[in-house]
Amino acid sequence: MTTIYQHGTLAQLVARQMSGTITVAEMLEHGDTGIGTFEGLDGEGIFLNGEAYQADSSGKVHHITDKQTTLPFASIHFDQPEVSQKLPFRQVNYSELTKSLQDKQLFNVFSALKVHGEFSHVHVRIVARQEKPYPSLLQVAEQQPEFEAENIIGTLVGYYAPKVFGGPTAAGWHLHFLSDDLAFAGHVLDFNATDVDGTIQIFDNFLQHLPINNEDFRSMNQDITDLDKAIEASEGGKN
Ligand SMILES: [Zn+2]
Repeated sequence: MTTIYQHGTLAQLVARQMSGTITVAEMLEHGDTGIGTFEGLDGEGIFLNGEAYQADSSGKVHHITDKQTTLPFASIHFDQPEVSQKLPFRQVNYSELTKSLQDKQLFNVFSALKVHGEFSHVHVRIVARQEKPYPSLLQVAEQQPEFEAENIIGTLVGYYAPKVFGGPTAAGWHLHFLSDDLAFAGHVLDFNATDVDGTIQIFDNFLQHLPINNEDFRSMNQDITDLDKAIEASEGGKN
């Protein structure tokens, strides 16, 4: 049995519920590898080797040592290279990933991608911290700084979710990047990996944890018309 543990939903972020509702410490009880965002959408989060990292919207990367730091949305799993499929290639770019899914019959399963090595190009964006009253996720998406790096060594980590789970999470790919020197990170818009090792781990369980102690979340009555479009424009996800 392999489990991806997710706190919060992307739909909830679209509906302006961006308060931090789980701590880094609690997330790390459920895994050592994953992605997320921090309270108020304060940057892009990466969990790697049981540690948490944050890329803020100035482009700086922080090692989060305060385990009481909170997140409104995050996904995590235990990296198990021994049960994962090794990537059959050392070079890959974003669009080629989808083709490999087709070959491996992975379209309808949750999977995690973890790839480490040399990248000739990585293009990321980093969401900027918002203040209450929180704006809509779409408004936030319109003003996200983007950063690019050439010839960089680092780790690509994230998930593929089947289309039917768009709403709870981002349908398609949702990948983050963290460089080995902790100088560059973010939500990946595009990449070209030139010499990497990696694994795809598939999950038979999707564990959705909800912020039931948050009043705003409890009282939200969300209109989910066009939810897919809002998620795709803001937090997705390549299909
Ligand atoms: Zn992201």
